This record gives sequence, C-alpha cells and structure tokens, in this order.
Amino acid sequence: MKQKPSLPEQAYRGRFAPSPTGPLHFGSLVAAVGSYLDAKHHHGTWLVRMEDLDTPRCIAGTAEDILHTLEAFGLHSDEPVLYQSQRTSAYEAALCKLQASSAVYPCCCTRKEIADSALHGIEGPVYPATCREGIPAGREGKAWRVRTNNEAIAFDDALQGSITQYLESQIGDFVVKRADSLFAYQLAVVVDDAKQGITHIVRGADLLASTPRQIHLQRLLGITTPHYMHLPIAVNVAGEKLSKQTLAAPVDASQPSATLLNVLKFLLQKPPADLAKSDLKTILEWAIQNWDATKLRGMSFAPSPPAPLMKQN
Ligand code: GLU
Repeated sequence: MKQKPSLPEQAYRGRFAPSPTGPLHFGSLVAAVGSYLDAKHHHGTWLVRMEDLDTPRCIAGTAEDILHTLEAFGLHSDEPVLYQSQRTSAYEAALCKLQASSAVYPCCCTRKEIADSALHGIEGPVYPATCREGIPAGREGKAWRVRTNNEAIAFDDALQGSITQYLESQIGDFVVKRADSLFAYQLAVVVDDAKQGITHIVRGADLLASTPRQIHLQRLLGITTPHYMHLPIAVNVAGEKLSKQTLAAPVDASQPSATLLNVLKFLLQKPPADLAKSDLKTILEWAIQNWDATKLRGMSFAPSPPAPLMKQN
C-alpha cells in the first residue's frame, strides 16, 4: 500500500493484532498474511501485538497457540510481541489525558437501560447520552465514555475508498473504560498503535466501522492517524463472517503451504499453479514480491475456500 509516496519506505510499520479468544481461523490468517505481505512488499517492519485485553474472553494457551501458528506460516514478528494485558498504565495515562480535557465522562447506565431508550445505529444501540451532563442522583458512574459530535469524520481507505461517519448520531458516545474496569478495545488499539509507531494498519473490513472512533480518539490524544487498508472478510457458505461464534475451523498449521496458497487466492493474488510444488519459503517470497493489494479494491467480503485436503499417506 502506498497512499503517500512521499513517505520513505523504511518508515513503514505494520502489525497484526489478534485477540486470543480462540485459535486462528482462515479469516484471521487472511489479516495476518495481508498485513505481513503489505509490510514486507514495502520493505517495512511487521509486528505482532497480542490483544489480550478482554481477560474474561481470553482462553489460556491461545496466545501461544496463535504465535505458534504464525511461526508455522513463516510469519515472524520483527520485534518482541506486545501484550495488551501488560499495558494498563499506558491506557490509564491516556484516560487521564482525556479526563483532563473533559473529553470523557463517567456513565452509570446498564446495557438494559441503554437498549430500552436507544435508537439503533450502525453497530447496535446509539448511546442516548443520558450521563453526558452528569450522573443521576444516587447512582455511581463506573464506565467512562468519550463525547462525540456530528462533525464528519472521513478517511480514505486504500481498498474501501472514502469513508465518512457522523459519530454522535451513528455510534453515540462510546465506552473507553468499561464498568468492570477493563479498558475498551477502541482506546487500547489507538494507544498501542501509537506506542508501536504503526504507520499502516491492514486488517479485516469488519473493523472498518470502528476506524472513525479510533480517528476521533487519535485527534483527542494528539496522535497522527495512520494509513488504513481494510481487507475483505472471509465468510462461510451461509454468508457469515468466520469467527469463533460461527464455529470457524482452526487453521491447520501442519500443512501451511497449501493453506497459504488458499489465502493468496482469496486475496486475488493469483499464485501460478506450479507454486503448489514449492516450499513455504518460496511461496512467501513470491507473495511478497508480487503483492498487489489493488486487486482487492472495493471488496469487503468473499467466500472462504474449502480447507486443503489432508495429505494421503
Ligand atoms: N484484536 C482485534 C481482532 O482480533 C483486531 C484489532 C485491529 O486489528 O485493530 O479483531
């Protein structure tokens, strides 16, 4: 991805940021491979960040399993893996900064209260701003929400084109620290992308609608907005996004070459047929050299291919 040719190529820093809530499936491998190829094609640095922030949803051993699978595919992080579970003080500092400028406010509303009075936005209920001017008497605000407004937040996605959102009416004031005192993904991702100096974010199009919230936080925190590229998401035969909830099969790390070729086909890179006889390293080298993201322009989802057939003994 080269949105701003003036940016020196060495400055490219990309990342893959899985949540260890389940093993890698074909869809998450697509994001890993796409972010890796885009970084390496531009002679950039590629990092892995473990988003183990939502501790109740994280499954023990899954982070190691994901890292092991990435290694089996030849995808090595260029720097030590950053774990969000160890970054609480950085998120706390960002929240303090937001509090100091009154960009955030405490909220006491329960999910049910919000669902009862909210309009439906692009990602569920739009928070009706109940606590914006203060907590009702006798209640305690445990969560923290960031104030939004209806100025257009627009950005150019390398594949999905020009995206515009009006946060206040389409999303509402959103949570940056939850009532259970865990920091929300939206804040953590912005703080960590800045900490790791990420210049290019390549990830699944399921996160496209989150990007304006992240840009809003970047502006409030004085952080430069990186370039964005949202890859098509892999869907199953029922048209559902592959995920733990839709029972997506874990990636088979024992035959990485065949699966990698499937990922490259999914990403419309058209690997030549004779590459199937090559080893993983050769396939990866071909993919880095020939990476052309423009083939995916305008695609937000695509069917995932069947898993490669098991090797016959
Ligand atoms: N951890 C997020 C996920 O697994 C991805 C975050 C990101 O790439 O910004 O869906």
